[in-house]
Amino acid sequence: MQCGILEPKKDIGGKFCEIQIKSGKQKKTRKYATMKRMLSLRDQRLKEKDRLKPKKKEKKDPSALKEREVPQHPSCLFFQYNTQLGPPYHILVDTNFINFSIKAKLDLVQSMMDCLYAKCIPCITDCVMAEIEKLGQKYRVALRIAKDPRFERLPCTHKGTYADDCLVQRVTQHKCYIVATVDRDLKRRIRKIPGVPIMYISNHRYNIERMPDDYGAPRF
Ligand SMILES: [Zn+2]
Repeated sequence: MQCGILEPKKDIGGKFCEIQIKSGKQKKTRKYATMKRMLSLRDQRLKEKDRLKPKKKEKKDPSALKEREVPQHPSCLFFQYNTQLGPPYHILVDTNFINFSIKAKLDLVQSMMDCLYAKCIPCITDCVMAEIEKLGQKYRVALRIAKDPRFERLPCTHKGTYADDCLVQRVTQHKCYIVATVDRDLKRRIRKIPGVPIMYISNHRYNIERMPDDYGAPRF
């Protein structure tokens, strides 16, 4: 509905409007009901210093693994060490551990047994396998080792392909693994999780930390 204002004095809302329609004159658009318009504080026309900064959207990494808190510790961790661990040991291997073993000319399965004096089953998760595959031709030896039939393949169901997160998540949920790594950051993360021993390389052999001393070979 459109109606105009002939004489601003008579402007008294709806009534005035009616009169205008009856008289058949249509002029300007109505003025009395217009809203006061405010400029947004983020408007581009404002000066830079007066303007509110645009809201920053927090980007969520879709590939990030969800970290859940695990406040309850299993009963096998009543003692200082994880008493549930026993042969055959399942050892989660990360990419660098394989590469360093190749450099040190260590056979993975044999050296693991030399370290723990028991049957060891190296486990490769899908993420670690993907990581090795991504490394390309130069690491084809590592890939061949990872596909060794003595290795157990652990399928991944989580989002993302970051192997460190994958390993940390696994050992948080299941206290039946030893983690084999030479990565300092990963070791630090694993140490925060109770009951998970770490296998590492030093002095051209495998060593283990966070295991009772009477398990396996003497450490040095
Ligand atoms: Zn994974």
